[in-house]
Amino acid sequence: MSKPIPVLEVFGPTIQGEGAVIGQKTMFVRTGGCDYRCSWCDSAFTWDGTGKSEALTPEQILDRLESLAPNAFGHVTISGGNPALHKGLGDLVSLLKSRGIQTAVETQGSIWQDWLKEIDAVTISPKPPSSGMETNWQQLENHLANLHTQQVSLKVVVFNREDYAYAKHVHALFPQYDFYLQVGNEDPHLLDDQELLQTLLQQYEQLIEWTMHDQAMKHVRVLPQLHTFLWGNKRGV
Ligand code: SF4
Repeated sequence: MSKPIPVLEVFGPTIQGEGAVIGQKTMFVRTGGCDYRCSWCDSAFTWDGTGKSEALTPEQILDRLESLAPNAFGHVTISGGNPALHKGLGDLVSLLKSRGIQTAVETQGSIWQDWLKEIDAVTISPKPPSSGMETNWQQLENHLANLHTQQVSLKVVVFNREDYAYAKHVHALFPQYDFYLQVGNEDPHLLDDQELLQTLLQQYEQLIEWTMHDQAMKHVRVLPQLHTFLWGNKRGV
């Protein structure tokens, strides 16, 4: 029997709202716990004690997924927190693979797990200065070197100019990887969807403006968080 994994949410089907697999129809498995404490974390409930996790085995997770979308999904996103905290996810990844289900993971790149090699789309999202976190560059480089260039992309969330400079630094250090800039959501608790949308659109335009004539940013993609445009700060969609 596989080891249980702390799971906060299993939901879907929905679309992936971020990064290289944006728009992909997917199911979500959100694991508990994070080794970071980003100031603007939009999933702080995974680590601040406000969310309650359930210990589920990979087989139980697959059962949940199948009951949510019987025979109607072929892609699962494993999210967090930081999913890379959990060695036991390797069994879930193998189980999904054995059923022909594709997988995606997002992690900040601070912790390595061998199962990351089996993931179809790994997004490594190092955190910019506004998060209050420090990047361990050597660790990041080591983890990237363990993955195939085609299976991994880098994503930096940008809230301000300092974050943008950080994003440029990341892209300059690792130019061989697909690179995504994403607008940050400053108020993950705002309930007024229209106000949120207006703010995010303005910030998206701003980020596009910064990027367009920047000679160091020729091969980048600038994205919003698509799901916040559609569903605001609502959870589990
Ligand atoms: Fe939140 Fe992600 Fe930062 Fe962890 S790494 S605190 S989940 S934003």
